[in-house]
Amino acid sequence: MPALILDRLEKRYEGHTAAAGVSLSVKDGEFVSLLGPSGCGKTTVLRMVAGLIAPTSGRILVDDRDITRLPPNRRQVGLVFQSYALFPHMTVFENVAFGLRRQGIAGAALRTRVEQALGSVRLSGLGGRMPRQLSGGQQQRVAVARSIAPRPSILLFDEPLSNLDAVLRDEMQIELKRLQREVGITTLFVTHDQTEAMSMSDRVCVLAGGVVQQFDTPEAIYHRPATGFVAGFIGKPNRLQGRLALGGDGPQAELQGGHRLPVERAEGLAAGDALDVVVRQEDISIQPLEDAAGTGLPGRIALRSFVGARVQYVVALQGGGEIIADTPTNGPQSGLAAGEEVWLGVRPQHVYATRRVGAEAVA
Ligand code: ATP
Repeated sequence: MPALILDRLEKRYEGHTAAAGVSLSVKDGEFVSLLGPSGCGKTTVLRMVAGLIAPTSGRILVDDRDITRLPPNRRQVGLVFQSYALFPHMTVFENVAFGLRRQGIAGAALRTRVEQALGSVRLSGLGGRMPRQLSGGQQQRVAVARSIAPRPSILLFDEPLSNLDAVLRDEMQIELKRLQREVGITTLFVTHDQTEAMSMSDRVCVLAGGVVQQFDTPEAIYHRPATGFVAGFIGKPNRLQGRLALGGDGPQAELQGGHRLPVERAEGLAAGDALDVVVRQEDISIQPLEDAAGTGLPGRIALRSFVGARVQYVVALQGGGEIIADTPTNGPQSGLAAGEEVWLGVRPQHVYATRRVGAEAVA
């Protein structure tokens, strides 16, 4: 039985639909991220599950119980905000005890439950501190302890790590994932950061314009994007435009200047269709033009940037336009220089072509 079901959940504001028929089924103990750009509706969906926003239509079920119309405190969901939202005038102990006291838990049982919750976020012994005496990462862990202490069925996170610096954020991602596995609680996590979503989640739900684009494992989202939006949102995309050409070698995207890239998946496309073409920076191999092999595009290196573990090349394509290739510093491709004529190797399975919306086809 799924722990959480969103059934055609919809939120309409005047002249605007923030969530359009969102359906998801989250398994017991699963970690699911809602991922998408600003304004895609992810916070709206999370807040509907929390009971902070009333849906226009659709249903929310937790453990087969319809909670759509229940007030937040009767839903058995825990919510962790971006801003921690700790009570500043209460000790860490009292912050964590807050929800438990409202459940009528007191005395030794209360102390045990608070200590358990603090222990699970590795903050044992800090119950007497005030929130201001803690680092940002510690405060966020208190917020997590406070929300897991009442043993909710579902834990909801609203961009909980976005206030932390990069190093702490990486640490907390691992810590939260470990904690979630240990406690085994079903989790819905909102983020606009694809790396965070992919590294933490069992499955990722990509949203755009209030519509679910794809709900699948991180590997599937990355390697088999279901829509042009997902292809252009996940990884580091180069966006090109072209037209679909059909020849003896199979479907190809003909780009500006007449150069062609083979397209492996062209279902639903017809010859002459105007295309949006995505090729990820990290899927491109780069070599001197005289070593050209396989399918790809010719160009000249306009800029080379060393960025630690990676080397980035901005390449001016022979047919016009630019493309970025992102290669590992340790690889054989890292020593090319600006000005060199190069071949950008692109495999057919790495060319994501979708029909350009609103564009005319040319026969
Ligand atoms: P962000 O990452 O910026 O928080 P988000 O994906 O969480 O974005 P939502 O906050 O869910 O986006 O908002 C979805 C859309 O609904 C946005 O276009 C937003 O402007 C709109 N919206 C949100 N709340 C309201 C409201 N009370 N009235 C009208 N429109 C709203």
